[in-house]
Amino acid sequence: MRATADNLRRFVTSILTSGGSASPEAGLVADHLVRANLMGHDSHGVGMIPTYIRHLKAGLVVPNTRAKLVKDDGAMLMFDGGRGYGRPVAGEAMDAAITRCGETGVVAMTLANAHHIGRVGAYGELASGAGLVSLHFVNVTDHRATVAPFRGTDARFVTNPVCIAVPGTERHPPLLLDMATSAVAMGKIRVAKNEGKPAPEGALIDAKGKPTRDPNVMYSEPHGALLPFGGHKGYALAVVTELLATALTGGPSIQPGNQRMGGVVNNMFTVLVDPGRLAGVDWLRREIDGFIDYVKASPPADPKLPVLVPGEPERIAQAERARTGIEVDATTWAEILAAADSIGQARPEF
Ligand code: NAD
Repeated sequence: MRATADNLRRFVTSILTSGGSASPEAGLVADHLVRANLMGHDSHGVGMIPTYIRHLKAGLVVPNTRAKLVKDDGAMLMFDGGRGYGRPVAGEAMDAAITRCGETGVVAMTLANAHHIGRVGAYGELASGAGLVSLHFVNVTDHRATVAPFRGTDARFVTNPVCIAVPGTERHPPLLLDMATSAVAMGKIRVAKNEGKPAPEGALIDAKGKPTRDPNVMYSEPHGALLPFGGHKGYALAVVTELLATALTGGPSIQPGNQRMGGVVNNMFTVLVDPGRLAGVDWLRREIDGFIDYVKASPPADPKLPVLVPGEPERIAQAERARTGIEVDATTWAEILAAADSIGQARPEF
């Protein structure tokens, strides 16, 4: 099934509205999901809707929830997401942190207990769009563990994404590192399973701890596990990400002393920095332009695959998919239609 971004956005908005979201929230969440598809991250696109509706019915996501400010102490802002849809509550927390950073030059902002915040890069883009540098460390809990520790054989944490955004210059768009600390995001395994394709090499182990490319090991008992990216280094980053996102935020880590109800809860630790208050914007731009030009001038090993910088693959995908439409595989589309049926939302014409 191939659809335009506008058609998908309208349909997903109507599903969320049928699920009880008021119109700004439904539109914001729908746009966030469709934008992830446009940027090539189908793992965090409209294919999340069946999960969201399942959580909605189980009371594991609460529509129309506002981010609650639980602490306001100068450059420190703490929020609780109250299991609200992640995009609106994380967006509210980011907006407040960006405004505060204008006064303080640096902000540490925490958000605990949000439902799935989706593509973390969206929050980095809010910061870089305001001329700020941002760092985001996110854990995932309330869910069974899906990622095994380095040297381990079973899952003990989830895909703990990290995002770092740096503003652009007149010549270069903002840089956006936005990645799961697992070899691939869990949603990419879901997409591989739905498309009947093997998982990437080196991404999965089976329930006995042996390497496999079968995505079904993540969906049948006893479960297999994803591996961290980059061996011990990715694992080490995942460990500190879990702790920054929880120990500082008041949100739960995945340790068994915390309740898991079978939903998805994201906790996020964010640092914002105004570069104008450090070495200055002129220096930042000079160094970005000089360094990015230099790095990208490396002769490509394959002439068809030039050197890119973080955020560039997403821009390329966005330009392409805005032109050609978004492909949704048959299994994912059937699941989305079933989710719409289950809350009484009519199927679309397209
Ligand atoms: P990925 O592996 O596709 O990309 C990771 C990063 O690498 C991006 O910043 C991208 O720009 C950069 N990149 C890719 N190819 C590049 C190249 N050739 N040169 C330079 N840079 C390059 O992403 P992923 O790890 O599969 O994560 C996908 C999405 O999943 C992200 O948006 C992430 O925030 C999201 N996520 C969310 C959660 C959650 O719980 N909310 C959990 C995990 C992941």
